[in-house]
Amino acid sequence: MDQGEVRSRAEAVTGWRYWQVDPDARAPLRSLSQRGYAWPPRAVLVARCADGQPHVAPAPRCGCGIHASADLASLQAQALCLRPGGLVVGKVALWGPVISEERPDGGSGDHRGRFAVPLRLSVVRGTVTGSALDTVVERLGAYAVPVGVVSLEDAVGEASATILRFLTLSASTAG
Ligand SMILES: [Zn+2]
Repeated sequence: MDQGEVRSRAEAVTGWRYWQVDPDARAPLRSLSQRGYAWPPRAVLVARCADGQPHVAPAPRCGCGIHASADLASLQAQALCLRPGGLVVGKVALWGPVISEERPDGGSGDHRGRFAVPLRLSVVRGTVTGSALDTVVERLGAYAVPVGVVSLEDAVGEASATILRFLTLSASTAG
């Protein structure tokens, strides 16, 4: 594990992330890993240590920092943990100290950075109900980046798409 390379915003690393979306909130993008943690529109998100340690995030030997996967395929490898609900996938820029870790299988891994902004967002079709899709796309306009729509398979991969469809169906018929 390296100590992280300090990058200026012009040298930012790009990566991929998922978010939960809360279209009625002023900051609709919510972190999946840190529940409810909101990404502020038109602002730079600054990492804090999720464990409350008094170091600058990201720190080596700590999981903190703003996470992003090196490519969409590595992000999809984490999609099995997704839960039903409005989902957004997108590309982000990370800068400041950035720690990059290879996956144990040698695949392209994850980046953890101190500063982040979204670069491009796609609402995942099938995770929000039909008429809400346009609303979510419109609300994500608050981030002032290109916003599109992507199929569930393209966003999470075939296997996770099947599981998410099943979970969504179970949730909607349970009540
Ligand atoms: Zn930490």
